[in-house]
Amino acid sequence: MELEKPLLDENKRRIDGRAVDELRPIKIEAGVLNRADGSAYLEWGENKVLAAVYGPREAHPRHRQDPTRALVQCRYNMAAFSVSDRKRPGPDRRSVEISKVISEAFSFVVFREQFPRTSVDIFIEVLQAEAGTRCAGLTAASVALADAGIPMRDLVVSCATGKADGELILDPGKEEDNRGQADMPLAVVPRTEDIVLLQMDGHLTQEELKKAMRMSIDACKEIYVIQKDALRKRYAVTTEEPVEVQETIDTQIKEE
Ligand code: UDP
Repeated sequence: MELEKPLLDENKRRIDGRAVDELRPIKIEAGVLNRADGSAYLEWGENKVLAAVYGPREAHPRHRQDPTRALVQCRYNMAAFSVSDRKRPGPDRRSVEISKVISEAFSFVVFREQFPRTSVDIFIEVLQAEAGTRCAGLTAASVALADAGIPMRDLVVSCATGKADGELILDPGKEEDNRGQADMPLAVVPRTEDIVLLQMDGHLTQEELKKAMRMSIDACKEIYVIQKDALRKRYAVTTEEPVEVQETIDTQIKEE
């Protein structure tokens, strides 16, 4: 029988060459869908995720409306083609759970009292999955909410820390998630360090739990910079543009 390759080598390098506290590469683009009020596309390692936001808009069905505040509703979906194993299309227990915990995380930051009877609808579509899709989806949705101009305390960011071969590892990949001893996704408001999502699969000691939370929070602060850059890029106004327009007008006047 062939022995499985260890998840960490003698220099504590991971199977994809990362250090134990290193994130996979992350790219975010804001405002990728014209129809939605806000949107974002995110690539995180091999994960590819689209997020769209509508609202605040009248909540339906009406009996679900809250006369004092907005509902924050999320639908997380993994496309049937997002993994190579056969995945039944449509909602399952896992996607219902992920949708719920993400809705709850955003309920904490959205100023819901400003929009009674409405709902803020968040759609997360995982196009390609490679472990950590709830963190990727939540991080993308946060940018989409800001792009939609939804009043919020701050952006929310998410990142998991796991355990493999007895060591804590930041942002576990697919094989580390499958063969590791723990996986702990966390979402935080980076400025205040309020934790708005914390889940755990596996076992960690109390000491490891504390250290893993610190690793995830510090990583979230790095990702926060990427989120803000994506929003800055989307809304940056170049001062050269009006000059070019003026030059075109001047040329047209001369030609006439
Ligand atoms: N996965 C899969 N089929 C499924 C659900 C998940 O292949 O029906 C894979 C996918 O790569 C996912 C990973 O298993 O990212 C880990 O799933 P988990 O439930 O831990 O959630 P995630 O880490 O994506 O938030």
